[in-house]
Amino acid sequence: MTKNPLETTPDRPKGRPFRLFLKIIGGLVAVIVLAALALSLTFLPARLDLPAIEVGDLPPAAPPAEMSISALPTGTYDAPGFLAYRGGPWTETFDMAATALLVRHPKGNLLIDTGLGTDVDDQMKLLPAMEQSRHDKGIPAVDQLKAENIAATDIMAILPTHPHWDHISGLADFPGVPVLQNAEGRDFATSNAKGTEVLNSIPNIHFMPYDYEGGPYLGFAKSHDVFGDGAVVIVPAPGHTPDSIVVFVNLPSGARYAMVGDLVWQMEGLDIPAERPWLMRWLIGENYEQLRHEIALVRAATQKFPQLHAIPAHDTSAFATIATFPNVTR
Ligand SMILES: [Zn+2]
Repeated sequence: MTKNPLETTPDRPKGRPFRLFLKIIGGLVAVIVLAALALSLTFLPARLDLPAIEVGDLPPAAPPAEMSISALPTGTYDAPGFLAYRGGPWTETFDMAATALLVRHPKGNLLIDTGLGTDVDDQMKLLPAMEQSRHDKGIPAVDQLKAENIAATDIMAILPTHPHWDHISGLADFPGVPVLQNAEGRDFATSNAKGTEVLNSIPNIHFMPYDYEGGPYLGFAKSHDVFGDGAVVIVPAPGHTPDSIVVFVNLPSGARYAMVGDLVWQMEGLDIPAERPWLMRWLIGENYEQLRHEIALVRAATQKFPQLHAIPAHDTSAFATIATFPNVTR
C-alpha cells in the first residue's frame, strides 16, 4: 500500500532553514558590532580616578659631587598615539624614545636601560608580527660610549627597568657586564613568558641578583640602594611586568629623577592621569590595579616634592630635560 505523504511528512516550509541561517548571521553581526562598540569605548579619553595617597618624607640622599647623569638616545620606534594612553591622538604617531641613561658615580658607571642595540633588526624578528614596529635606529649606546673612550667593560652594571626588547636590546653589546636582576625578573625570564623573547635570545648574560633589603620609599613598599648613599634607589613597581621597577636617581644639585620605565609611555599618563587603553594592558598582560597604585604614588611624590621629576622611558620630551651624552646633568 502506498504511503500518503501528507500523513507522514511534517509541515516544514522550504524557507525555514534559510530564515534560521539569516537569524544566526544577524545575531553574530549584532554581537560583533556590540563588541566593536564596547572596545572603541575603551579608547575614549578617561581621567584616572586615583585616591589621595601619602608618600611620606623625602628620603635622605648623599650623592657624591662627582656624580652625573647623561641620556644616550639610541633611536625611536613608532606607536599610534591612540594606543599610548586613553584619549591619545588618533591622527598622530609617537616617536617612542629608546634611550639609555648613564649614571656616573665614583663607585662605578651604571647604565639604566640600554635602548636599541647593534642587533635590534634581528631581535625584532623574534617578536610577534604586530609588535615589529617601524623604528629609526640611532647610534647604539656602546658605540656612543666608545667614541668618548668609555669601553663596554667600564660599565659596572646594567639596570633594566624591565626586560622588554626596547629596554634590553643593547645587552648583547656589553658582554660580561653584570645585569642587575630581582627575583621576580629571574622568574619572569625563566617562565619564557611573552615579552622575554629577546632577553632569552641573548646568550651568556651575567645576571647579578639584588634584593629589596631597604624599607619603604616614597610610598613604595621596599627598596634597594645601589651605591649605599641614596644616590640610586630601586623600588618594585610590578604593574607593567612582574619585575618592573622605578629607579630614583638623586643628583648632587638636589634634583631628583624617577625613571618610571613603562609605568606610563608618555607624560600624559601621569599628567592627566590616563592609563593605557584596555587592549594594550590586556595584550601586555599587565596588572591593572598595581599600575594604578604606582601611577598614584609617582604623581603624589612629584606633586609633593617639586625637585622630583618623573621620566617615562618612551617620552622624548621628558628625556630632553636631561643632558645628552657626552654632556652631563648634575
Ligand atoms: Zn618599553
